[in-house]
Amino acid sequence: GKPVCECSLCYGGPYCSEILPDCPANADGGDPLFLQPYWIQNAATSAVTVSGWHRMSYSFVKSSMLSDELVRQIQKLHETVGNAVTDGKFIVFGVGSTQLLHAALYALSDDDRLSKPVNVVALAPYYSMYQEHGTMFNTRNFEWQGDVSLWKNISNNSTSKSFIEIVTSPNNPDSKLRQPILEGPFARIMYDHAYYWPHYSAIPAPANGDLMIFTLSKITGHAGSRFGWAIIKDADVFQRMVTYLQYNTLGLSHETQVRALELLKVVLEDEGKTLFEFGYKTIANRWEKLNKIVSASKYFSLQKLSPQYCNYFQDIHHPSPGYAWLKCEMEENKECHKVLEAAGISGRQGSSFGVEDRYVRLTLLRSDDDFNLLLQRLVSLVSKELVDT
Ligand code: PMP
Repeated sequence: GKPVCECSLCYGGPYCSEILPDCPANADGGDPLFLQPYWIQNAATSAVTVSGWHRMSYSFVKSSMLSDELVRQIQKLHETVGNAVTDGKFIVFGVGSTQLLHAALYALSDDDRLSKPVNVVALAPYYSMYQEHGTMFNTRNFEWQGDVSLWKNISNNSTSKSFIEIVTSPNNPDSKLRQPILEGPFARIMYDHAYYWPHYSAIPAPANGDLMIFTLSKITGHAGSRFGWAIIKDADVFQRMVTYLQYNTLGLSHETQVRALELLKVVLEDEGKTLFEFGYKTIANRWEKLNKIVSASKYFSLQKLSPQYCNYFQDIHHPSPGYAWLKCEMEENKECHKVLEAAGISGRQGSSFGVEDRYVRLTLLRSDDDFNLLLQRLVSLVSKELVDT
């Protein structure tokens, strides 16, 4: 064959088939490049061209900032997958779900019925961005307070404190489906459903929360397009989110909306069957391989996940988590990421997710090259254990 000129990071040699020994396996971040082969298969139908004279205005036709067609496509997508109820609800778009998380904090906390500052909480381990966001954008209206477990008894009996609980389901980092911990008139729930798609989880029932956030990043894998949407029940909360988005970015890039529309059209051509089957099989297969390696070790363990019936596939869904939540079992290995780093693997340490550094998150979402390198490094690490003992 012809030599390839550009190899992926960590690969070299004339055919890019040799692994460079000193290059760390990157298992950090949430880049969903495992979906790229699907888009290579659909390269022509998913291409988008925008002429220079086209889409220059702030508004779409009928002076709406939102593409109505994209709203309809999203409603159709949820109906087809059966993962969220959109009937009678409002939809807004954001620059990724990241912008919407903040818009939702603003919209939920700016409510006269709630005492200020509203305490923002999530069950640990939680997605690291909530803490970074909640701390950086602290306002008089809300304050990041960390792990919800510390607040459960106070909140459910309190009339003087109010809360926003962020419920990530499936959760990042451990991929478990979650329900809220808090209840009562002074608790507002914000659902982050970034991973509630058949690639990553069984879909046991449509989600029907009052405020639910989704993102293109994890369904089609187009994280760089920065497109997310929120589905909102309450008209006042919706209005406050629209106001926030208006002042923050004066709408969302039309190029992004056009691309999202074209991508979702391709996905829905066969009711999502090809995309979801490809995504699910890829990750379930990666998870199985990872489990096999880790189960041979007494130093490391992975989160336990069970098969569950999936309404979308109408079949039993085997675990296919976006992330592995690895634990160092031995007393001397309290800083698990350092053990991995020494073995040439970079993951994200437990303290980013509000728990001990005995845990590390490893991604299953990257390209085949990255994932295979991770497996190789883990095999050497685990076999070294056998020699040492
Ligand atoms: N929520 C969760 C749980 C995530 O894991 C991520 C990305 N890793 C996001 C939100 C943000 O994604 P985006 O801004 O690309 O929509």
